[in-house]
Amino acid sequence: MALKVNLKQFLDEKGKVLELTEQAKTVFKFLTTIVLSVSENIEQPLIEIDLRCNTRAAELSCEGDIEANCIANNIIEWHCDTCEASGTISNWQGSMWDMQKPTLH
Ligand SMILES: [Zn+2]
Repeated sequence: MALKVNLKQFLDEKGKVLELTEQAKTVFKFLTTIVLSVSENIEQPLIEIDLRCNTRAAELSCEGDIEANCIANNIIEWHCDTCEASGTISNWQGSMWDMQKPTLH
């Protein structure tokens, strides 16, 4: 089952991270690492993230690598190269983990 996350759900109206449980913090760190890597390499078709699948939660044992890419405006898709784990992250643009250089118009 894909994990669909709206990054804004973790943030207050000022863009600061809400109080999270330990479990949520682990997932959130995983997701923001993906956002950082993808937004830095936004022009690449597929980005290898420096994360293992089991970084998402303490009880996971999969040591597959995580790959991600930006599939649509404001949506990042990630998946594990070993197991079925996958997900999407929306509303990451403009957050503090968005490393895209501002485009000049
Ligand atoms: Zn996996």
